[in-house]
Amino acid sequence: MLTTTRWCRLIVITIILLLTPMVRAADRPPNVVIIFCDDLGYADIGPFGSKTQTPNLDRMAGEGIRFTDFYVGQAVCSASRAALMTGCYPNRVGILGALGPHSKIGISDRELTMAQMFKSAGYATGMVGKWHLGDAPQFLPTRHGFDEWLGLPYSHDMTPKHPATTQKYPELPLMENEKVIRTNPDPAELTTLYTERAVDFIGRNKEHPFFLYLAHNLPHVPLGVSEKFAGKSGRGIYADVIEEIDWSVGQVTKAIDDANLGSTTLIIFMSDNGPWLIYGNHAGSALPLREGKTTTFDGGVREPCIMRWPGRIPAGTVCRELAATMDLLPTFAKLAGADAPRDRIIDGQDIWPLMSGQSGAKTPHDAYFYYWNKHLQAVRSGKWKLHLAHDYDHPDPPGHDGQPGKYAKRSIGLALFDLESDISETNNLADQNPDVVARLQALAEKCRDDLGDSATGRAGRNVRPPGRLEEK
Ligand code: MG
Repeated sequence: MLTTTRWCRLIVITIILLLTPMVRAADRPPNVVIIFCDDLGYADIGPFGSKTQTPNLDRMAGEGIRFTDFYVGQAVCSASRAALMTGCYPNRVGILGALGPHSKIGISDRELTMAQMFKSAGYATGMVGKWHLGDAPQFLPTRHGFDEWLGLPYSHDMTPKHPATTQKYPELPLMENEKVIRTNPDPAELTTLYTERAVDFIGRNKEHPFFLYLAHNLPHVPLGVSEKFAGKSGRGIYADVIEEIDWSVGQVTKAIDDANLGSTTLIIFMSDNGPWLIYGNHAGSALPLREGKTTTFDGGVREPCIMRWPGRIPAGTVCRELAATMDLLPTFAKLAGADAPRDRIIDGQDIWPLMSGQSGAKTPHDAYFYYWNKHLQAVRSGKWKLHLAHDYDHPDPPGHDGQPGKYAKRSIGLALFDLESDISETNNLADQNPDVVARLQALAEKCRDDLGDSATGRAGRNVRPPGRLEEK
C-alpha cells in the first residue's frame, strides 16, 4: 500500500513529467522565417489597402502584428539587404546601391551576419532567393552563415535580355550553394521554385531550431508569373505576381503549421524597398506615401511589414512606432539566446517590446536617417521628418508593359513634415516650427560626423569598409 506521502510524491512526479514537453517547447528558441520581397510597394497587399487579393497575408496580419512605420536601410536592393543582414545602416558597412555582376566589393568577412548569429546559437540556416551582397565566392551566402542556398546572386534584370540598358550583362546564374546549376531562369518560374525549396527546408529541419531567409526576386522587373497565376487576378500581371507571392506565404505558413511549429515560429513578411515607379504598370504602389524606390521620401523606404508568432505576438494588432530591418538582428539575438556583436557599432535595437505588444512600448530610436547612397537627405524623429535640400528622380513619364519610362530631375528644399497628420509629405511646416527644425538639424549633424555625408564632404568617423576582392 502506498502511503499518503508517497501518493503525493507520485502525483507531483507525474505532473512534472506531463509538463516537461510543454516547458521544453516554450524554452526552445524560436524558428525564424523572413519572407523578403523585392520592390514591393507599401500599398501592394491587402493588409495595407491593396485591392489585389492576398488572403494569406490578410490571415497572417489577423494572426499577428502589422507595423505601419517599418523602414529599410536605403531605397535600393544591396544597401537595403546589407542593413537587414548586419543590423547596421548600409553606410556603416560600406554596401551601397545595387551591386552588379563581377562586383569587386561585397559583404565584409569582418561583419557578423544575421545567419552567422543564428549559427552561433546552434540553428540550421537556409536561404532561398536573391542575395545581392556580392557575387564572388567569398561574398556568397554560404560564406556568410548559411548552410545552404538556392537562388540568384543579384537582380534578375541583370541579364543579356535587360529591356533598357546598353550594358553587357553576363548570363544570369541560378546557383545552388556555390555552383551554377543553370543560367537565365525564366522569371515566371522563380516564385514557385523558391517556395517549393523553402517548404522542403522546413520539412528537413523541423526537429531543431532553424532560420530561413526566403528572398523573392519578384515583384522586381522583369515580371513573371507561373501558369497557375497568369491572368488570375484580372488586374494585370503585377497583381498576378502579388497573388503568387501571397500563395507562397500561404504555402510557407501551412508547412510551419502542418509541422506543429506554429507556436515556436516567428514569420516576418516585408520588402527591401518601395516600388520602382519608372516601370509604370509593372511597378507597385506606395500610396499614400510619396514617391518610391531610389528616393528618400517614405515611398522609397517605408515598407509593409507583418509579423506572426501565435501565443507570443498578440493577434490582430497594429504597431505605429518606428522600427527598421536593422533592428531584427539584435532582436533575434535576444530571442535565440545569442550575442549581438559588442566590439563594434550596431545601429539596430531590440524591438521585442513592440513586437510582443507590451503596453506603452516606444520606438528605441531617437532618429532614423534617410540616405541616398552617401548623401544624407532627411531625418525623422518621432512624428517629424526633415528633408535637407536635395534632388531626386521622379518618373515622368513612367514606362509601360516592362519598358522603363524616363526620370525627371526634381528638387526639394529644407522641408519639415508631420508624418502623423501628413503621411504624404506635402505640407511644409518648417517656418512654423523653427525649434523642431533646429533639433532635427542637430541630429543630422551628429549623423554626418558618425556616418558621413557626400553633400557636405564628410567621410564619417565610424564607417567600416566593405569586403574587397584582392587586386591581381
Ligand atoms: Mg529592391
